[in-house]
Amino acid sequence: MPFCCSMLLAAALLPGPDARFVSAQPPAVADAQPFHTRGADADARSLVARAMAGSPTVARLVTELEASDLIVVVQVGIILSPIGGETRLLAAAGGVRHVRIRIKSSSPLCEQITVLGHELRHATEIAASPEIRDSKTLEAFYRRVGYKPSVGGSFETDAAVAAGMAVAREVSRSAAR
Ligand SMILES: [Zn+2]
Repeated sequence: MPFCCSMLLAAALLPGPDARFVSAQPPAVADAQPFHTRGADADARSLVARAMAGSPTVARLVTELEASDLIVVVQVGIILSPIGGETRLLAAAGGVRHVRIRIKSSSPLCEQITVLGHELRHATEIAASPEIRDSKTLEAFYRRVGYKPSVGGSFETDAAVAAGMAVAREVSRSAAR
């Protein structure tokens, strides 16, 4: 399948409730995946595997998360807004923090991989910041290190934008081979 990557960085990090996302498939047990970064279903597991194979940046971020206290569940499904994905801290308990990354199912694969890399960078930001325990501490963190982009009301960081751009370059290079 040919895919050319235009930059898609309409990803967002949103604290608070969500009603805009419907998972395309029910969650399933991950297999042959990294322990700390898990696809919620077959589509998401395939996305994680293809992203790791096609993007050294994604592979590095997943490896980094393996050494963290985060369990990152990746979902691919319907997002009823312009954003391509988002990262959310769900819970912190028992020495484990649960993070969910959602990727828009209607995006082309290259954009899904790019957004996944962007959101995984946010996950590593959370992993490196043990003071983030809930939506309040998450927002305080991003008020300190992030900024609000001109489009969208969520926080953004230069590091996540750079990670997404790096992944887009890697994916377009691997697609051209
Ligand atoms: Zn972001």
